[in-house]
Amino acid sequence: MIEVDEAQRIVLAHARPLGTVEASLAEALYRTLAAPIRCDLDDPPFDRSVMDGYAVRAADVARVPVTLKVVGYVAAGVVAGRPLAPGESMQINTGAPIPSGADAVVRVEQTELTSSGGGVVIKESAAPGHFVTPRASYASTGRTVLEAGTRLTPAEIGAAATAGAARVTVYRRPTVAVVATGDELVDIDRVPTSAQIRNSNQYLLRALIESAHCEADVLPAAGDDRDQLRHRINEGLRRDVLCLIGGVSMGTLDLVPDLLRELGASFHVHKMAIKPGRPTIFATMPDGKLVCALPGNPVSAFVGFELLMRPALAALQGRPEVPPLIRAVLKGSLAATANRRSYFPARAGVNDSGEWEARTLSWRGSGDSLGMATANALIMRPPQADAVTTGDAVLMLLLDRS
Ligand code: AMP
Ligand code: MG
Repeated sequence: MIEVDEAQRIVLAHARPLGTVEASLAEALYRTLAAPIRCDLDDPPFDRSVMDGYAVRAADVARVPVTLKVVGYVAAGVVAGRPLAPGESMQINTGAPIPSGADAVVRVEQTELTSSGGGVVIKESAAPGHFVTPRASYASTGRTVLEAGTRLTPAEIGAAATAGAARVTVYRRPTVAVVATGDELVDIDRVPTSAQIRNSNQYLLRALIESAHCEADVLPAAGDDRDQLRHRINEGLRRDVLCLIGGVSMGTLDLVPDLLRELGASFHVHKMAIKPGRPTIFATMPDGKLVCALPGNPVSAFVGFELLMRPALAALQGRPEVPPLIRAVLKGSLAATANRRSYFPARAGVNDSGEWEARTLSWRGSGDSLGMATANALIMRPPQADAVTTGDAVLMLLLDRS
């Protein structure tokens, strides 16, 4: 049996990025940059007004009140028709270029038009640069805004757009073939007979894979039949990654390990020191393709996916990361653990003091997918750990992180 940390290191060592593609920025959310983004222009590209008001020469408004001649109006998107001479001002809007000759802006609230028209009384003085964002004060042309390896969240998308990156080079998204195994499985739109169960994992895995920003190609489930399963495995191996569900334990019809071996797979992880999810397999095929075989019990499959497959899928997209463990205050009780690291589905949230809190769920073991329904975290307990109760500190792994 292998420890989780070691298994994750092994997975990251084998999961190399699949390659890069060009994408429009509009399609790049949550993808990972394979090339840096640099500013193609100064930002801002010109000296810019921060306020609606009057562009002035600071020297003219050193002593106030003072009346200046209004010689024009500069809206956003417009360049002033002429420079500003001493004693003059121009009405200006937020975002408009500062006219040459002007070096400050006085807010409209601090001004009053003269009753005769054509003039403005400035009631507040302004130092040079007041309410002006100078050209390139955020960044100069050529500055790297986002490094390669950055994941594009909404904040990065906004920054990339400012830098003019209409098209970006990102890592390709993997397609993951999903093959569920088991003679007992029926599609979820059917009513199972007395010995059958619904193939819920097919949906669970599709959702998990899509939540990892990959494409799922769900193949028809395979029965516990060597030839049919071999056929499905070969079909699934045409995708970037193959995910098998069920058939990985010690039963006489647990054919997955045997068939994978027959097809030349090298097993890098086969049995992890965790509960649930022990029989999880991570293997590579002779051509380097990744295979993950998860136990059939839904909660075991979930845990196996989060611990091994999610890091693998992230690494294939250019981010070799494992999900971090976060400290939380426990609400509820957990029994002492035996010799394996244990994971418990939990509901995480932030309490009134602003701390993470993890509430235990009434969950009845690895087959209880309904008991996991409201889980958004897994509490991790080390091997040989004492029982814990409300108020104790625990470590958890957050699920559902976009
Ligand atoms: P296995 O890993 O094949 O030994 O299956 C372990 C348990 O998970 C058994 O109770 C199976 O019926 C159940 N199971 C296996 N595959 C699925 C699936 N695709 N959806 C729901 N439950 C499953
Ligand atoms: Mg089975």
